[in-house]
Amino acid sequence: MEATEPFSDPNACISYFATLRWPDGPVCPKCEGKEHYYLASRCIWKCKKCAKQFSVKVGTIFEESAIPLKKWLMALWMITNAKNGVSATNGKTKMATVGGFIGSCEMPADGG
Ligand SMILES: [Zn+2]
Repeated sequence: MEATEPFSDPNACISYFATLRWPDGPVCPKCEGKEHYYLASRCIWKCKKCAKQFSVKVGTIFEESAIPLKKWLMALWMITNAKNGVSATNGKTKMATVGGFIGSCEMPADGG
């Protein structure tokens, strides 16, 4: 069971989800800069411009929760691989699902 663990390499997973979340590359949540260092040991990015450190969880409901990153990734994995409703053969749908999921988490209630 653990041998088929999809998230044995957290950095690979994070880069996968980062691609879904930021198709054009990670964006700094503070200054919206697009130049970063990736700190592989901590699975986070550090903005070259403002030195803000952030993970792929930043801006989502998971950021402040106690859910370990691995479980968070598992949740996303389950969404992307959901047998009901989402065609596993449709990469675009998968990306839209995850993107929408993450997007709905980080979307602020603007204006009103
Ligand atoms: Zn920045």
